[in-house]
Amino acid sequence: MELAYRDISYCKNVGAKRADILRKELNVNTALDMVRQYPYKYIDRSRFYKIAELEDEDTYVQIIGEVTEWHTIGIGRAQRLSATFFDGTHQCELVWFKGVQFVKLQRGVKYLLFGKPSRFNHIYNFVHPELTPWDKVTPEMTQGLEPYYNTTEKMKRMGLNSKAIRTIIADLMPDVRKGVPDTIGMDILQKYRLMTLRDALVNVHFPKDTLSMQNARARFKFEELFFVQLQILRQMKRREQFPGFAMPLVGSRFHALYKSLPFDLTNAQKRVIHEIHDDLKSGHQMNRLLQGDVGSGKTLVALLCCLLAVDNGYQTCIMAPTEILANQHYETLKTFLAPLGDAVHVALLTGSTTAKNRVPIHNGLMNGTIHILIGTHALLEDAVQWQNLGFVVIDEQHRFGVAQRARLWTKNQTPPHILVMTATPIPRTLAMTVYGDLSVSVIDELPPGRKPVQTIHQAIQRRAQIYSFMRKQIEAGRQIYVVYPLIQENEKMDLLDLQNGYNELCEAFPDLRISMVHGQMKAADKDLQMQRFISGQTQILVATTVIEVGVNVPNATVMIIQNAERFGLSQLHQLRGRVGRGADQSYCLLLTDLELSKDTRKRMDIMVATNDGFRIAEADLQLRGPGDMQGTLQSGTPFELHIANLATDGQLVSLARQAAKEILDKDPLLEDEMNRIYKRQLDILRVQQSYNWGEIS
Ligand code: ADP
Ligand code: MG
Repeated sequence: MELAYRDISYCKNVGAKRADILRKELNVNTALDMVRQYPYKYIDRSRFYKIAELEDEDTYVQIIGEVTEWHTIGIGRAQRLSATFFDGTHQCELVWFKGVQFVKLQRGVKYLLFGKPSRFNHIYNFVHPELTPWDKVTPEMTQGLEPYYNTTEKMKRMGLNSKAIRTIIADLMPDVRKGVPDTIGMDILQKYRLMTLRDALVNVHFPKDTLSMQNARARFKFEELFFVQLQILRQMKRREQFPGFAMPLVGSRFHALYKSLPFDLTNAQKRVIHEIHDDLKSGHQMNRLLQGDVGSGKTLVALLCCLLAVDNGYQTCIMAPTEILANQHYETLKTFLAPLGDAVHVALLTGSTTAKNRVPIHNGLMNGTIHILIGTHALLEDAVQWQNLGFVVIDEQHRFGVAQRARLWTKNQTPPHILVMTATPIPRTLAMTVYGDLSVSVIDELPPGRKPVQTIHQAIQRRAQIYSFMRKQIEAGRQIYVVYPLIQENEKMDLLDLQNGYNELCEAFPDLRISMVHGQMKAADKDLQMQRFISGQTQILVATTVIEVGVNVPNATVMIIQNAERFGLSQLHQLRGRVGRGADQSYCLLLTDLELSKDTRKRMDIMVATNDGFRIAEADLQLRGPGDMQGTLQSGTPFELHIANLATDGQLVSLARQAAKEILDKDPLLEDEMNRIYKRQLDILRVQQSYNWGEIS
């Protein structure tokens, strides 16, 4: 029987109970699902190490030698067995904490030691190694690459460890070798030099050598990314057929704002507005991603585009991820729109808008008198009904998901045009996957006259030097931000840090005025403190990350980030973007301890080395890994990747997108006989994914 139709419970070494666990834990229902469980790593069992050669602590090694001495420490459950292993020239230590009574050691016997070394006091240790007497070592044990499979605690309790999985899969291999229907057509396999499904399955589990293992994995990664791209692009093609509101007019409000601006738009801003306007007048619904570095002027672009829509008789909204940001946008827009008087009516709706104040807003939206509504998730509530919502800006700040975006559409019959703005640039591979269904506009130019911020990484211990630097800047008339980290889990401690920092600064600069803001303050107090800093009454603003987004004080030239090691790269970049907004040279001081982890050091080095948000985003992806980034980019993506890695498989993402695009360009609905296999596979995937979608919408 074909593997796809053979129930997992009928496979050798499985049975009803194990089948149940496999279904629940790994979503393995059939024999085909089973062989599609790819190993997460391989260990080269054909290689034997000498103790003197050990250097990497993370890889498993095997060594031949004997046990020269051993002793137990402690009694009962706390017993610990420690042995010395000798490979002929060097020694290492073997340690067991558990099951000590089962470990039987013999002097003068040749052993094969297998395990993961770690270094402690200049000697290598192996905790709970596998120790096999040499005469029990079978040829298979030391042959080629040994695959390792993911398991869970529940699986292990049923004896389903990596070895057991391997046995089950090994038993299915004869059937795999007979042939498995491929999910990718021969033409694509040939064009992109990919292994067939059959060969890839054989070589992913029992590779001949490293190269065939890598080729097998590349095939599966490509396959995974290819179907993601087929889904994304098919969705995009479908949407291109949707009618959209036609907004051909460039009207009086747009012109009035344009003329009132105290500066010229950058060429990049102009280009992007043209791109968006082309979409608006096309008669099709726009779905566009606006990327641009911190300070590149995205807000103004969004506002001008809102006015395009308003001039054509439509309502618009700007959705922000936090109340602070929504407030900030509201203030910014009101300032920009002041010269236009009553011509544009802007309203603000957030979670803290009172029921009483909501009434006129709801009415204004219904009767069309509100032109631009700014708000948070509150905009998605059912009570919010529009007369004719035509244009939506989502200031993503990495927090709105595909599903939430889709929810906006049900608000009225014809979907509004959608512009998604990102707070910081997104690496290309991630953009193609997470935002792959959107057209992309990039503002790749900062307003003129900006001096790049100088970034300095400094040990927190050098306080005197830091204070004297601050003093000089303030004497020159500038202002300073001092930012402390704040993470939810440890809020009390962090507030204490902030308070201490504030007190220290007050002592160090008794003649200066210092503001302090944090998330726990009453909104009115916060506003007051903020206002004092913005108007220049206070010289230093001590704050938590509430200022990450929003504030715009051109006279502030120094950003001091305390405990910089506790911030992510994109957050540091955002914070740095708060300075360098005026004509004077600005500085960003990253303060950390002297002792740093490897990752932290890399992050600091990158921040010092570049101001380019795209480069920082790439580095962030490499350091944090795509899972983590995707998590923050989106509350959930329907595309769960099992083998491909967006941080390291960038090239495959591009190739897979290209392959998918070629197919859909010729056959958008996948109706051709030769494209049937893709349609069928997409249907299977959709069923598997419906679970994920349900969770986030
Ligand atoms: P972003 O949202 O992309 O980080 P902002 O929209 O906050 O950037 O813009 C940063 C600052 O630059 C704002 O004070 C804005 O008014 C100003 N600005 C925007 N466009 C221009 C321009 N073309 N020339 C000069 N200043 C500009
Ligand atoms: Mg902004």
